[in-house]
Amino acid sequence: MKAMRITTLGTSHGDHTYCRFNSSTLYEIGDQSYLVDCGEPVNGLMIRANKPFGQLQAVFVTHMHEDHVGGLPDLIKALVKRPRTEGGTTVFLPEVEAQAGLDGWLRAMHVAWPSPVVTFGVTTEGPVYDDSLLSVAAVPTEHMAPLGAPSFAYVLEAEGKRIVTTGDLRGDFADFPEVIRQERCDLCICEITHYKPEVALPLLMACPIDRLILNHVHDPWHGEGEARLRAIMADLPYPVEIAHDGDEFTL
Ligand SMILES: [Zn+2]
Ligand SMILES: [Zn+2]
Repeated sequence: MKAMRITTLGTSHGDHTYCRFNSSTLYEIGDQSYLVDCGEPVNGLMIRANKPFGQLQAVFVTHMHEDHVGGLPDLIKALVKRPRTEGGTTVFLPEVEAQAGLDGWLRAMHVAWPSPVVTFGVTTEGPVYDDSLLSVAAVPTEHMAPLGAPSFAYVLEAEGKRIVTTGDLRGDFADFPEVIRQERCDLCICEITHYKPEVALPLLMACPIDRLILNHVHDPWHGEGEARLRAIMADLPYPVEIAHDGDEFTL
C-alpha cells in the first residue's frame, strides 16, 4: 500500500501573514499528485518544496474566494510550460462561471492558452473525480451561502484511507460536514479561521476522527498564539496538529 504525503504549502486565511501564505495543500500518492485549493503563491511554493508540476493530475477548488484560487493563473502557466508527460491536469472549479474569467485572464497574459494539457471540470455535490488511485467526492458547506455561491468540503479516498478536508466553514460551525460526524476518517483537515474553537469543541469531541490537522489558520493562533490553540484543543480524544507552510504529513 502506498503512503500518502500531504504538504500544506500555504496555511493562512484570507490574507497572507508574516508566517503564512494563502491556502493550498498538495496530496502525493506514489508519483501522482493532487492539489486542494490554489491560493497564491502556490506555483512558487511547489517549486520551493521541489514538487514537480508534471505529476499533478487534478486540482480541486473548495470555493471561489481569492485566497483559494488566486494562484491558479500562475499555476496553469507552469502546467502549460511543464505538463505531465501523459494526460493532462484537470482543474475543478465550483462555479462554471469562473471558467470564462480565468480563461480571459490567461489570454490577457499571453499564456499559450487554451492548452490541451489543462482542462476545466466543475465541482458539484457527490462524486467529482476517480482515477486508478484516488476518488474524490464533494460535500456542500454554507461558507458562501450569504453570497448565493457554492462551497465544498472534499472527501478523498485512496489506498484504503479516507481524508476529509473541510474548506472554509460558517462562523457557527453548523455546516461542519455530516460525513465527518457520522463516518470514521483517517484524517480530517479542518479550517480554523471562521469559528471560535470553543464553539467547535463539543462537536469535534464526538466525531470518529483518527487524526486532526488544523489549517487555514487565523491570526490569533499564529506564532505564540499556537500554544493557546493547542491548550484549547488538548482534550480532544485524537492527535491534533497545527499546519504551517511547507509542513509535510504522512498517512
Ligand atoms: Zn479562505
Ligand atoms: Zn472563504
